[in-house]
Amino acid sequence: MPEEKPKAREFHVDQDLCTGCNDCIKAMPQHFADTGEDTAEVANYEGADAVKLEQVMKACPGKAIKWK
Ligand code: SF4
Repeated sequence: MPEEKPKAREFHVDQDLCTGCNDCIKAMPQHFADTGEDTAEVANYEGADAVKLEQVMKACPGKAIKWK
């Protein structure tokens, strides 16, 4: 049987809660990007360090980063 790779857990930015502080982009530039409209979005959720991501989620002033 072929081994299945564990699936990356998906997360997203709630656009209504994001304040556009860019802290998540500074902390994890490979996973977050600027939408160009004063908010951040998830650029790529795969391979995100779970511990670091939890820290970024906790530090997010809008509590906008959520697991899907
Ligand atoms: S840390 Fe939170 S509030 Fe700041 S840009 Fe990222 S998602 Fe938006």
